[in-house]
Amino acid sequence: MAKPLHFVLVPLLAQGHMIPTMDLARLIAGRDGACVTVVLTPVTAARNRAVLEHARRAGLAVDVAELEFPGPALGLPEGCESHDMVSGGDFTLFNEAVRLLAGPFEAYLRTLPRRPDCIVADTCNPWTADVARRFGIPRFVFHCPSAFFLLAVLNMAKHGVHDRVAGDFEPFEIPDFPVRAVANRATSLGFFQWPGLEKDRRDTLEAEATADGFIVNTCAAFESAFVRGYVEALGRKVWAVGPLCLLDSDAETTAGRGNLAAVDAGRLVSWLDEKLLQSVLYVSFGSMARLFPPQVAELAAGLESSNRPFIWVAKEADDLDDGFDERVAGRGLVIRGWAPQMTILSHPSVGGFLSHCGWNSTLESLSHGVPLLTWPDFADQFLNETLVVDVLGAGVRVGVTVPITHKLLNPDAPAILVGRDEIKRALTELMDEGALIRARAKELATMAKKAITTGKSGAAVQPIFAVSCCTAKISLPCAARRPHGNVKTHGKV
Ligand code: UDP
Repeated sequence: MAKPLHFVLVPLLAQGHMIPTMDLARLIAGRDGACVTVVLTPVTAARNRAVLEHARRAGLAVDVAELEFPGPALGLPEGCESHDMVSGGDFTLFNEAVRLLAGPFEAYLRTLPRRPDCIVADTCNPWTADVARRFGIPRFVFHCPSAFFLLAVLNMAKHGVHDRVAGDFEPFEIPDFPVRAVANRATSLGFFQWPGLEKDRRDTLEAEATADGFIVNTCAAFESAFVRGYVEALGRKVWAVGPLCLLDSDAETTAGRGNLAAVDAGRLVSWLDEKLLQSVLYVSFGSMARLFPPQVAELAAGLESSNRPFIWVAKEADDLDDGFDERVAGRGLVIRGWAPQMTILSHPSVGGFLSHCGWNSTLESLSHGVPLLTWPDFADQFLNETLVVDVLGAGVRVGVTVPITHKLLNPDAPAILVGRDEIKRALTELMDEGALIRARAKELATMAKKAITTGKSGAAVQPIFAVSCCTAKISLPCAARRPHGNVKTHGKV
């Protein structure tokens, strides 16, 4: 009998990439007895242990390989192993450390009794391309952003749009696009667009050019025109396998997703149970973005004066004035630390999500029929806002027009991007007057659930198996090599 296929998944060390990769691991491991290893580091493996153990109990052959993170050798603090732990100035250094994982990764592959059948590496890990080539292992790129963003970036680059515009904020239409969409350079830069990351950007494009296929965490039913456009523009194999978050339907996985929650999920659910249907606004800016202190004060004032229930995951809680918690007690809950986001979004009392429009947060919200109040910060988030508000009709803009990163490069730029009155206005528009928008979000949730439960998105994984089998030509004597001391695996590979 043929051995089950072994997939090795290499996420970017960032919450918005590791979380969907853990989901993808479970999706693949649920098929034809395949086994999957996710490559992490000690700190990130610990964060994902609850989800991993739950998958094991469900009989899935998912495993984690822990690689020692080379950060401290470069001067990064011990334990700083994920993007959300990196302080501003260390960003380039962190990327350099991630690139150095190529060595331990190669060493890990040599410890295996047989060569894996396929590597699925995040597009932000281009260093995996050389390793996969040396070992003769087929490699798929895993894209965590939306197809809307991927196609927009591809077309803007193809037409040299960013080089042609006069300034950062000059508007232009995204060329060759399925819908009319207006953007500007400042808000459509995408990833690795930071001084010092030019090499990462070039390497990413090269690694994409030599990939055997692309996996996208999106719901083809939401984004059909953009998935199709991306397939046509690339002329390559692309599988839309999402929304992967809907694989996390049990309370245990949703509560432990990404990290141990700073609040007890059961108590949070009891708090939500006491609120009216669709009355609570959930506020979170994802795992990385932080608001400047004056902006925190504006948001706090907007929430306070709105007089409605909210849950705010505030990384910036230290910037809140002392009396805030007491003044909003009973109706406002501030979470200081990691929130069980999926537990919150799946609760019927939640009626809106004030979100930075990270693609995972966006998918999680829409998959649960929760409309968005959009407050993008940087990277792909402004384009996701355009998709949500203008194309899908499932959100209301708060009114942010400048990326948060702009101030880091231009210290004189204002720290307040949106004032308390605008926040309150948008909140009322969504929560009180947004019946059509809410209905649209519910429709999208039905489409998303159908995609996962009827196996449409899941079935999309099947061709991955076919491709990895026929591209896996070179056999490498991994077993003959010596195990490497820096690699630890949980359970059997
Ligand atoms: N998340 C969470 N609790 C938090 C903050 C974030 O569970 O307190 C999860 C969220 O559900 C999502 C991911 O972290 O799955 C964040 O990814 P996203 O793409 O939305 O934003 P990023 O953090 O990459 O900016």
